[in-house]
Amino acid sequence: MEELLRRSEKLTTVGQLAAGVAHEIRNPLTTLRGFLQLQLETTKLNTRHVDIMLTELDRINLIVGEFLILAKPQATRFEEKDIRFILGDVISLLDSQAHLCNIVFEPLFGHEECRISCEENQLKQVFINVLKNAIEAMPQGGQIRVEVSRYGMKDVCVCITDEGIGIPEEMIPKLGDPFFTDKDTGTGLGIMVSQRIIQSHQGTMDIKSIVDVGTIVTITLPLNRDGADDER
Ligand code: ADP
Ligand code: MG
Repeated sequence: MEELLRRSEKLTTVGQLAAGVAHEIRNPLTTLRGFLQLQLETTKLNTRHVDIMLTELDRINLIVGEFLILAKPQATRFEEKDIRFILGDVISLLDSQAHLCNIVFEPLFGHEECRISCEENQLKQVFINVLKNAIEAMPQGGQIRVEVSRYGMKDVCVCITDEGIGIPEEMIPKLGDPFFTDKDTGTGLGIMVSQRIIQSHQGTMDIKSIVDVGTIVTITLPLNRDGADDER
């Protein structure tokens, strides 16, 4: 219960979020401005400067892009979809990237229909975020298991298990804080955006991890009422 409260507090602090975005965008903008000033006042920019400028521009683009997902009107079009197909699409999308990193996906979907009411693109975004984190956590390669199963009569459960570096216990409560990242090129927005989307689908997202063993992300979503009947 306390955890639930803490999360909802975290999600409603829009002002804090806006201040964070401003801060995160201002840093690369300062760099860009500095280099352009340099070009104006002294010598020509060299390749390294231009490289940094491009990296900083990409970073601004990434941050703004992640926020656009949130800014889109919520609940625009909820449609009934089988979550196995959504996950199948996302896995195909990331397959070649995973392959390059010596990572294989192991989908365990079962035969039961798992129809839910959802905004397909938003859910895809969630699974892309979670699977990308899993890939990024496995620099040596390995396996990522993607399990879909019915959970009781009313829910469907998606478990994504990696064999990555894991997350230290003291970092777990910080997951979902905007801009919390331990990556040089991370935005620290993926989990926050994912939590928001899952919440707007009346679902829950839970992260368990052991350092040097791996991480399990469990997403539970309500089955569609019709889909809850086994025999059809
Ligand atoms: P980003 O990926 O841009 O850093 P996220 O919000 O997606 O932002 O993740 C925040 C942080 O949570 C990551 O920087 C990483 O430290 C940690 N994390 C998330 N998923 C995993 C995972 N599967 N394995 C290890 N660490 C993870
Ligand atoms: Mg991420």
